[in-house]
Parts: sequence; structure tokens; C-alpha cells
Amino acid sequence: MTTIALVGNPNCGKSSVFNLLTGSSQQIGNWPGVTVERKSGLFKKDKSLVIQDLPGIYSLSPYSLDEKVSRDYLLSSPPDAVLNIIDATNLERSLYLTLQLLDFGIPMVVGLNMTDRLKSIGKKINTEKLSYALGLPVVEMSALKNQGITEAIHRAEKDASLSEVQYDARLEAAISEISNVVNADKRIRFPALAAFEGDLSLGGQELTLSQQKEIIEIRQITEKIFDDEASEILVNERYALISQIIQLVVTETGSTRSITDKIDRIVTSKWLSLPIFIFIMWLVYFLSIQTMGGLATSWLNDTFFGQIVPDFLEKLMANLKIISWLQNLVINGIVAGVGATLGFIPQIFVLFVLLGILEDSGYMARVAFVMDRIFRRFGLSGKSFIPMLIASGCGVPAIMAARTIEQERDRRITIMVTTFMPCSAKLPIIALISGAFFRGNPWIAPSAYFLGMAMIILSGIMLKKLKMFSGDRSAFIMEMPNYHLPQVWTVLKYGLDKAMSFVKRAGTIIFVLTVFIWFFSNYNFRLQQVTAAQSMLSDFGRLIAWIFSPLGFGDWRAAVATLTGLAAKETIVGTLGVLYGGGQELTSSFASQYTAAAGYSFLAFNLLCAPCIAAVSTIFKEMGSVKWGLRAVGFQTLVAYIMSFIIYQFARLMTAPADFVTLLAIIVLIFGLYITFRPAQKEVLAL
Ligand code: GDP
Ligand code: MG
Repeated sequence: MTTIALVGNPNCGKSSVFNLLTGSSQQIGNWPGVTVERKSGLFKKDKSLVIQDLPGIYSLSPYSLDEKVSRDYLLSSPPDAVLNIIDATNLERSLYLTLQLLDFGIPMVVGLNMTDRLKSIGKKINTEKLSYALGLPVVEMSALKNQGITEAIHRAEKDASLSEVQYDARLEAAISEISNVVNADKRIRFPALAAFEGDLSLGGQELTLSQQKEIIEIRQITEKIFDDEASEILVNERYALISQIIQLVVTETGSTRSITDKIDRIVTSKWLSLPIFIFIMWLVYFLSIQTMGGLATSWLNDTFFGQIVPDFLEKLMANLKIISWLQNLVINGIVAGVGATLGFIPQIFVLFVLLGILEDSGYMARVAFVMDRIFRRFGLSGKSFIPMLIASGCGVPAIMAARTIEQERDRRITIMVTTFMPCSAKLPIIALISGAFFRGNPWIAPSAYFLGMAMIILSGIMLKKLKMFSGDRSAFIMEMPNYHLPQVWTVLKYGLDKAMSFVKRAGTIIFVLTVFIWFFSNYNFRLQQVTAAQSMLSDFGRLIAWIFSPLGFGDWRAAVATLTGLAAKETIVGTLGVLYGGGQELTSSFASQYTAAAGYSFLAFNLLCAPCIAAVSTIFKEMGSVKWGLRAVGFQTLVAYIMSFIIYQFARLMTAPADFVTLLAIIVLIFGLYITFRPAQKEVLAL
């Protein structure tokens, strides 16, 4: 077995290369942090080659978790070779990592990716000279066009070589002295360099006190010679070398970037960027929930799962003389519940195809850039926005993507707020509420997206004021890719993947839960078959329903549905399907029982409250402590409760006079605004 690790900056195309090589389908994204864990796969043309995809990193100084993952891996279980993928349109930044990698003493080949884009940015790279300057084989490739990938991996297998670059002689002297002090393997310069920069851990090797003292002395002397700090010396030396290399290998040929620049001038402009983003997201939700996806979903829900399937099964089971409780279970349990969820597939598919287009064309990268400007104002960086973009698919990878954030406090805030974003499983609730209570209103579905986003921003502003979260924000560097026409297959696959995982969940967890819901809502505690209103489930639901009364949905059915949502958010609609009947019946009887205000409040609560069990357990894992896990989930539920309370109480005023509770809502609102917008202060405020 030969192991080859793919290492490179975020967004250099590693996952694309990995997928081409292994035939797997990892998520590919236009932003950093999509791959935060190491993944491995076998080369599809030669199963004795193991390919490792490492997280994208800018450097190997362990500032953030993903950099640490890569560094530890390279130090503790070095692969046979590294294929260092570099973005040809970003040589300077890419080569910084390349120079660091050389110091690990692992045979290397450079894959010069994105060469298809060089022309459009008006550059030419002389590959031979680059290879000469680095002392490594360099292979031109384009993951987008599937060119050069196989060659790169073969070269990595056969021709990977070691190389060493020479910095200033005075620096080299210091490094070799440090190597002597720690008896390091001369080929693996990294620990000595890291020690020079002040990291005395040496990849886990224990140093004696006298060794530490010697290193510190060497460092101090060198700092005096250079009249600079140790960490600066090394960074400067690296960049000096890089600029020499770039002068040697890059020729400017005149840019054709103008179209991208022109679009960007509008799309990222100070005043228009936000309205444009809002309009685009509105359009995305409008098209997927109201129009295209909506029509197909209505048909599926009302006609297919509402009439055709139950009629067919009813006749079939009657003919087969199936026992009546089982008929009841199939029609009123499974078909009503699972059918109610499956009906939303067209909307999910359209939504994710549209989001895929925004992502693949390069627009979403601009959104992150625009959001960085907003997030900056309250001390978070645009990096926090990336997990939120991912969360519109699913909260679990989103929470993990927060690992790219260096500042621990910012990472925690991001984990706490990121699931406010409506994920694909919350989509059916959005669609159900907007269809049942607000037929024809094109703003309800998008408003769920904007509500999630607003709560993220407001919570961010508020949390950042607490002492436990205050501090510097993480740096955010992100290259804007050129706009390009989205690739049909990539985009369709994105939609299909989401739809398929939805089907899978409908067939497993949602199926099981609906059977339970059916059972508990059809029998009482003496196991006699009864109406839903006399069932065990209603007895249980009534125990907790009062909690939701101030939010307008203090009914046992809504309470139970909300609870089942903690298992999986899709189940909320499934549960309602069992309790109210599937198809047309669901929308009409649900809508007749609640006011529109209560309907929207129900939506807001389920959107914002603690996410499903999978996301909750990821939160606990990523927070690394029970205390922080509980804080996060508690915070989310509190925000959900308060927001739904305020929304319901104010919306109610349209049909009912103000009363004591309205006053309470006003007080809560004022207090909330105060907590959020008060001037930053120093003392600790317990959460
Ligand atoms: P990773 O972050 O390094 O894993 O990079 P990804 O594989 O997720 O790719 C980032 C973005 O660059 C995606 O939008 C890809 O479609 C795009 N991309 C990857 N390779 C190429 C390439 O060779 N040429 C062009 N033009 N785009 C590419
Ligand atoms: Mg990746």
C-alpha cells in the first residue's frame, strides 16, 4: 500500500481532485472549511494507492483546529508522498504552504491546479522553471476539466522527491544549531523551525530545561542580528523567496477578468449588495416553495399521497382481508405520516438545485465577503458565515465547519447560532405553514430564511458583548473565484443528493416515528382503541402543551409535533400528518385550528429551537464539554421561545385587543433590544 496525501489551501480544488481520483462524492464547496476532517479513499484505477484528503490550510502553524489536524498527521504518520495542490491563480499564498511542507521531509510533487483559469486572469506560468526553483516535479492540472490529475498521482507515486530551500545564511545557521540541540533528523526541519518561532512542543517531543534554554538563546541572538522578532524573520524570509520564485515563473499577459470585475462592482457594492442578496434569496425560496416546487408538492401531497396511494392501498388491503387495525396503521399512520414528508421532495430538490447554482457560479463566495463586512461591525468575521451557508443544507457539517475559526470564542458563538439557519429538514415546516395559513403570500417562506439569518446576526451582536466571548476576531482571507456558468451535473447532483437523503430518512427514522405516533395516538393506557383526543399521546401532550400557550400553539398536537422534531425535524410534518390526517386534510384542519399568528409562531419556534438529535450531539462533541453543549442548546431554545412569544403577541394584535400579555411582550422586546445593543461592557454576565 502506498499512501499519498493531498495537501493545499482551502479552495485549491483538493476535494475535486480527491473525487476524481477515488470516484467518491465528497462535498465540493466554494469556500474554505468544507472538508474539516481527514478522508481517505482508494485510487480507482489502482487499489493499492490510498489517497488522503486533508483539510484545506493556509499554513502549518497550528492556529486553528484544521491546521493542527494536518500538522499532526504529517508529523506522526507521514504518508509516502504528498501531492501539494496549488491554485495557479494564487501562487503567492499557495507557495507559502509549499515552503512549509518542504520542511517535513516527505517526498513531494506539486500539482498546479486551476490552470484553465490562468488565461482569463492574464497570467502564464512556466512550469519547468517552477519545478527548478522548488526542486520538485510540477504537474499542470485542471480538476474542473479533469486534466493532468492521473498524471499527477502517478508522478507522486514514482517521482516524488525531497527538496530543501535555503534561506538567509544567518537564519540557516540558527536552524542548524537548533537541530543540533534537539538531535533532530536533518531532513525534517519543521520541528526546529517551529522551535525557532517559539513553539517548543516539537511535535510532542519533550525537551529538557537546558535544551529549552539553549533554543531560547539561539533565538535571541538571531533576533538581535536581524533586529526583528523570530516569527517575523521566518515569515519575511519565506515571502522574499516566494517573490523571487514568482518573478522567475510568472508572465503577465493582460487580464480578461473584466466581466467578473464588472459584476462584482455591483454585487459586492456597499449599498446594493444586501438588497441584491435579499432579492436573490427571496427568488430562490419563492421559486422552490411557492411556484415550481410548490406545484409538484401540492400534487404529491393532495392527490398522490392524499388520494391515489391511500385509495389503492385501501382496496388492496380490503381484497386481501387484512385485519382492520393494520389497515388503519397503513393508511392513517404510515401513508399519512411518511407521505406528508415525502410530498416535500420537489421543493427540496428545486431549492438545492437553485442553491447549487448560486454556489457553483461563484456568487455565494461574494455573499461571504459581503457578510464579512457586516459581521466585522460586531467583532465576528466572515468566517463565521461559512458554516451558516453550509447549515442551509444540514446543521451537522455546518457545526463541524466552525473548526476553521481560530478564535475559540468565535468558534463557540458560531456553533451556538449556526443552526438558526433553516436546514433541508425544516423546509417542510416552512412550506406547510406558508401553504396552510398564507396561501399566495410570497414572503412567508423566504421570511423563514431571513428570520434565521437575523437571529444569527442579533445573537452574534449580543453574545459578543459578554465577557466570555469578547476578544479579537479571526482573520478572514478568501479568494473570489471568477464567475462561471454552473455545471449542470454538479448542480443536479447537489439537488438529487439532498432529495435522496430525505427519502432515506423518510424510510427509516421518520417511518419508525410515525408508527409510534400512530400507536400512541390510537390507543389509551388500557390499550383500547380510542379517538386521538382520548389517546395516551394526547394525555402526554396536554401535560406539556401549556408551555406553548403564550406562543399561541398550546395544543397537545402541536406540542407533541414539536417534541418529535427533536428526533428529526422532518418528523414534525409527519406527526401532524398522522394527527390531522394526510393530504389536503392536513393543511385545512391545521389551518382551521390555529390563527395565522399562531401558525407563524409555530414555524418560528421550530426553526430556532434546539436542532435535531444528530446536530445536538455534534454540538456537544465540537464544544468538547457538556457545560458548553448545554449552554448552546439552552441558548437556542431560549431564543426560540422569546422570539415566538414576541412574534405571536404582536401578530395577535391584528385580530385581538391588547392585554396584559401584550405588555409583557413589549417589556421582553425592550429588554432584548437593550441586551443586544447596549454598549459593550467588561463585567461577566452569566448566560
Ligand atoms: P477544496 O476546498 O480544496 O477541497 O476545493 P474544492 O474541490 O471544494 O474546489 C473549490 C472550488 O474550485 C469549487 O468550486 C471547484 O469547482 C473549483 N475548482 C476545483 N478545481 C478547479 C479547476 O481546476 N479549475 C477551475 N476553474 N475550478 C476548479
Ligand atoms: Mg474540500
